[in-house]
Amino acid sequence: MYCSDSQSEKLRTITTQNISIMKNEMPQLPYPANGLEPIISAETIEYHYGKHLQTYVTNLANLVKGTEYEQCEVEEIVASAPDGGIYNNAGQVLNHTLYFTQFAAPRQGNTPVGRFAELINRDFGSFDEMKRQMEDAAIGLFGSGWAWLSLSVDGKLQITKESNAGNPWRNGSKPLLCIDVWEHAYYIDYRNRRADHVKALWPLIDWKTVAGRL
Ligand code: MN
Repeated sequence: MYCSDSQSEKLRTITTQNISIMKNEMPQLPYPANGLEPIISAETIEYHYGKHLQTYVTNLANLVKGTEYEQCEVEEIVASAPDGGIYNNAGQVLNHTLYFTQFAAPRQGNTPVGRFAELINRDFGSFDEMKRQMEDAAIGLFGSGWAWLSLSVDGKLQITKESNAGNPWRNGSKPLLCIDVWEHAYYIDYRNRRADHVKALWPLIDWKTVAGRL
């Protein structure tokens, strides 16, 4: 049966939360709705998490009913489903799970440590250069999509732009950190000022959680 072989076990490990699509389950936020203020408001969380993500979760649960994907984890669907509604909704569920669980209450001077910090220095030269490239990818992305920091199959950190529901996981890279630049991610708090939103996000990143995805 599809999604029941041993390869699937390996694929389940990207997110720390196992979401049951069939039970229409939402990933849990590790902070209260106002916990990211003033950078991301409670109202944005209410809409972005409470309405947009909930819609993707509900759509996916409905779409997979009676298909070969019914017993799959979202990671498995993103890796293997053909382009179309199931793939798009699974992509948004996986992306938003990684997105919302990578944040914590704002903290200045918040930086990666240990092996992850070493990898950033090795592959980008410095933490500041990695941030600059990530901001450039997010700000320069045309239309709706995501900027990603991921670990390539040959073990190198890389930054990529993905349109719509794209995730580097589709090409075998391990997704670590993401910036959502669909307008719904920032329009309530920043209106059209995408660059201001992107540059404001750094104090929110929970680097321990991000490094745990390596
Ligand atoms: Mn979003």
